[in-house]
Amino acid sequence: MSADLREPLSPEHLHYRDSARRFVAAHIVPHRERWEEQHRPDRSLFEKAGTLGVFGFGAPEEFGGAGFTDFRFNAIFSECLAEQDALAAGLCLSMQADIAMPYLVHSTSDEQRARWLPGAIAGTSIVAIAMTEPGGGSDVGAVQTSAVRDGDDYVVNGSKTFITNAGNADLIVTAVRTGPGKHLSLLAVPGSAPGLTKGGPLPKVGQSGADTCEIFFEDVRVPVADRLGEEGGGLRIIKRHLTQERLIVAVHGLAQAERAFQLALEHARERRAFGRSIGAFQHNKFVLAEIKTELDIARAYLERLIPQHTSGRLDHIDAAQAKWWMTELCKRVVDRAVQLFGGYGYMREYPVARAWVDSRVQTIYAGTTEILKDMIGTSLGLREDPRG
Ligand SMILES: Cc1cc2nc3c(=O)[nH]c(=O)nc-3n(C[C@H](O)[C@H](O)[C@H](O)COP(=O)(O)OP(=O)(O)OC[C@H]3O[C@@H](n4cnc5c(N)ncnc54)[C@H](O)[C@@H]3O)c2cc1C
Repeated sequence: MSADLREPLSPEHLHYRDSARRFVAAHIVPHRERWEEQHRPDRSLFEKAGTLGVFGFGAPEEFGGAGFTDFRFNAIFSECLAEQDALAAGLCLSMQADIAMPYLVHSTSDEQRARWLPGAIAGTSIVAIAMTEPGGGSDVGAVQTSAVRDGDDYVVNGSKTFITNAGNADLIVTAVRTGPGKHLSLLAVPGSAPGLTKGGPLPKVGQSGADTCEIFFEDVRVPVADRLGEEGGGLRIIKRHLTQERLIVAVHGLAQAERAFQLALEHARERRAFGRSIGAFQHNKFVLAEIKTELDIARAYLERLIPQHTSGRLDHIDAAQAKWWMTELCKRVVDRAVQLFGGYGYMREYPVARAWVDSRVQTIYAGTTEILKDMIGTSLGLREDPRG
């Protein structure tokens, strides 16, 4: 990737990047395979990441946060993971840092922040966001898990599936139905609440070290004081935070694609067939030239959005565009990189093979490509004609 396509990094960014690289090398890379076998990272990983400050960007200083928002720091951490073929292994950290934290920082009362932020920022409390249900994920407004008011509590019944961090989670921000139509609310449910059970790890084709489980709620009592925002305001909060969720998945997609390109280029230079390097065949040269061009164009767009998000100006449609484009690009790039590796590209010990299975889900979670294109199209005024 051309260095001049990047926003310039300040000495603080460069310093953080060095620390993050060392962190990934010391605390993630050596444990990847063991986590894949146990289908989740060790809880202690979160606490170690807390000392690096991963969860504190955008969070107030009084609770242990950085006291400022600069999404470049969030992006740098994920890029450091991808550089060392550890994006899937570190995904649970990104889930907490980039996707769950904004709910706790921006959609809570002062009293709730004082209870939940110190542990979440320190990494002693592991947080999950539970929206998807067995009956459907794309149509968030159709959530069926119910929360019925009983005195100062809600009584929650239902189930969630595919929930990242669920197995380790201490706090599960859960979307529940509190009324008809789009009347959803968000409740922060302790992972140890009576009546809450977690399924075993879901066997996935990739991202095997990520903690993904089902959650079942049977008459779980949750104090009204643990509701985020207004009753019935859940969907508005979810929509607000999906912008950052989609931006970070776009960051993952591009970082993963750039890493796959780097691996493929090195292989194309070194691997020989018919007396020359395979990269010297015109077809392969063109493949790599096309990938390089697409990556540079994608990088220029993403680098424009990151500062916009930092200053609170990122439009949710831009985030949707970036998410579907970067993740579909990643899918294409990784697939072509596997082809360039030949049989080795299909061997699990090769990072490019891991990238192939690990990255596939990116076009599915955080809004499928189809849902995002639908949103973008609707923003262009293309709605179903009510006259039929
Ligand atoms: C590894 C992993 C981790 C996850 N982590 C979490 C998590 O932490 N928290 C959480 O809440 N969820 C999580 N999810 C769930 C994820 O967000 C959903 O899988 C996703 O939203 C899609 O929902 P679905 O699987 O029910 O598919 P469906 O909604 O059933 O969609 C199936 C297909 O239909 C298409 N489709 C649906 N509606 C339309 C439409 N209007 N127009 C065109 N096509 C349409 C979709 O694009 C898709 O191709 C995770 C999923 C995975 C696999």
